[in-house]
Amino acid sequence: MVRTLRPFARQKYNVLIDTTNGCNLRCSFCSRENDKVVCMPPGQLDLILGKLDKRISALQLSCAWEYSIAKDAAEIVRTVGRHGIPCTAIYTNGNILTGEIAAALIDAQLNDFVVSIGEAGKETYEKLRKGGSFDKVLANLKMLSELKQARGSRYPRISANLTLVESNLCELPAFVELARSVGIENIVGRHLILNKGLDLSDESVRDKRAANRIIDAAEEKARSFGMEFSVPRYLDAPQPKSCRAAWQQLYISSNGDVSACPRIHLHAKLGNLLEESRARILKGPRAKRLQGEFQTGSFENPVCPVCLAGRENEQPIDQGF
Ligand code: SF4
Ligand code: SF4
Repeated sequence: MVRTLRPFARQKYNVLIDTTNGCNLRCSFCSRENDKVVCMPPGQLDLILGKLDKRISALQLSCAWEYSIAKDAAEIVRTVGRHGIPCTAIYTNGNILTGEIAAALIDAQLNDFVVSIGEAGKETYEKLRKGGSFDKVLANLKMLSELKQARGSRYPRISANLTLVESNLCELPAFVELARSVGIENIVGRHLILNKGLDLSDESVRDKRAANRIIDAAEEKARSFGMEFSVPRYLDAPQPKSCRAAWQQLYISSNGDVSACPRIHLHAKLGNLLEESRARILKGPRAKRLQGEFQTGSFENPVCPVCLAGRENEQPIDQGF
């Protein structure tokens, strides 16, 4: 069946942008490694957002990489704030959060500051997130929460984004209490995605029923604290899904390259927003080809078929990073 969606070039879309392609951590479940980091200067971010801002419904800064490793991270945040985007979020590992960045998050009225953490114990956190400091992340979250209070601001909401693995699963209810104590208001989670080239067999959750009981207990605790909680339960069989990224989403890398999704950014490049106009990219042959692949179900990239089948938790995928 052919989709009857509005043409990509005329609608609003979800934008994901990475202003670096490096990270200060080496998490055990992440295949990302990069010695030649390209940081997008604030001026280039301003140029790109200027080409897009009227058409952005939601913007996520930092998706596949870490924004805070750039020297001008605070100015990057302020640049986002100047574009009047209705819904903005930053995803981060939270190990680098200076007072200057924290002030910029509040001034930019960022909606969501989302930190990757789901462990209640220092040992588990630092085993999974190599190079990260559990104490530093907690201190950073507390500092931001206190600064919000001191300035009477509800921005940004502080969220935790956790990846459930065998090592941290049993700590989830205790993590909810820890999260509350450092000002986290919202907990979201996902299951482990298998990246090609990594042996993650020890970290794949084995007893799904027991895992669901732990998730239920953690949710009950979070709700009793007035926190939001959204961690998916484990299902007996993979759940196929649909995806509209080829029509409704843009992923922009730190060199300006555009794709529809971070997971396929090296497999299906649509253009470059530092060199081309928005319209030229969105009406171009590469965008049409990708949309055609979704319509026929026959993909040139190896990731979308696995993702659409809901099997990225059991079949390793090559995301290109
Ligand atoms: S999972 Fe995130 S924080 Fe960890 S190494 Fe990968 S990019 Fe960095
Ligand atoms: S990898 Fe998944 S989310 Fe990304 S474009 Fe393909 S189907 Fe959509």
